[in-house]
Amino acid sequence: MAAGNSNSNQAIKTEPVPFFNATAAAFGVDVSASVQRVLERGQFVLGPQVQAFERAFADFIGAAHGIGVGNGTDALLLALLALDVRPGQHVLAAANAGFYGSTAIARVGAVARYVEADEERLTLSVPAVQEALQKEKPAAVIVTHLYGRMADMPALTKICAAAGVPIVEDVAQAHGAQLGGRKAGAWGTLGCFSFYPTKNLGAIGDGGLVTTSDDTLAQRLRALRQYGWQERKYEVTLAGGMNSRLDELQAAVLLDKLPRLDAANAARREISARYNAAFSDLPLRCPPNAEASNVVHLYVVRSTQRDALRAHLQERGIGCDVHYPIADHLQPVYGRNGDVSLPVTERVCAEVLSLPCYPGLDATQQQRVIDVVRDFFKRSSGC
Ligand SMILES: *Cc1c(COP(=O)(O)O)cnc(C)c1O
Repeated sequence: MAAGNSNSNQAIKTEPVPFFNATAAAFGVDVSASVQRVLERGQFVLGPQVQAFERAFADFIGAAHGIGVGNGTDALLLALLALDVRPGQHVLAAANAGFYGSTAIARVGAVARYVEADEERLTLSVPAVQEALQKEKPAAVIVTHLYGRMADMPALTKICAAAGVPIVEDVAQAHGAQLGGRKAGAWGTLGCFSFYPTKNLGAIGDGGLVTTSDDTLAQRLRALRQYGWQERKYEVTLAGGMNSRLDELQAAVLLDKLPRLDAANAARREISARYNAAFSDLPLRCPPNAEASNVVHLYVVRSTQRDALRAHLQERGIGCDVHYPIADHLQPVYGRNGDVSLPVTERVCAEVLSLPCYPGLDATQQQRVIDVVRDFFKRSSGC
């Protein structure tokens, strides 16, 4: 089959596979009629579509309230503001989760206390959180469900409840993930979602939402997202407000896409399973097979030859990316930060590589990704 192999190698070189394709990932949902209706109606910010989506999404997650906001980072910021996290207070967070939580923490003037990642899950290490909680009581803990995979919420909610510390879940990569029948976003005090176009539930622009089952926090969030207004417009009764609202166009699109989310997540799991099977004999650390608690936002492998593998893929037109190359505590913005050492987190940042994985990535494209990855190890092992 030598001829067949060289033919498929030709195809590898000529047909690129994009890392992400928003049109393919839309999973066949046509939003044009809904978009047209919003245009005809002429109300564009916080209207009936937003209300309907807030209700539908909160129901889907299993939370009492959903508060639509401008984006996922604002969702985190508003969550910390709603909890009244004050300047100088400490917030525990992971350092391998893309600096989103850190951005919100810094924005309220609080101080991020970075906690080591679990070697297997790559989410917050439970013993490390336990140790941090014993040292001092933080104002909150941000738990990021990384790459679509839920953190150990039964253990984390237990130790945080015992310490009297609220959990803010960052669910921007895990829409629809569930553990023991309870969805990500319904475990913590607040759940923060992004609908950036590449997310598992993506809009056609920016969007975000906070879930909570706490009536008081929900009320505070509704005021904080819109200037601090509560009873009536133009009357500011809550300090610290801002403008961060979801718009009607995004809400209409998200309402159309929400019913297909579970099927889209299942498609991601299938691709992940196919890659895992195809790579099982390679010196490559693959993610665990995806269960209900993992909606495979990203398919992330680990390799000590990450940079060479990345270059090999890029040269052959296979889209790939690193999530994330710089640990939060080592970001240049902090300057020298010599007193924090997180060996697992730092090693992970040097090893992770994300491969194309989204609904609509067809079987031929998946095979091309597999062929090019296998080709790298064939070359590097010299056979
Ligand atoms: C995308 C993302 C965010 C930020 O969402 P935006 O809508 O881009 O602000 C926050 N946290 C995580 C884990 C993300 O992946």
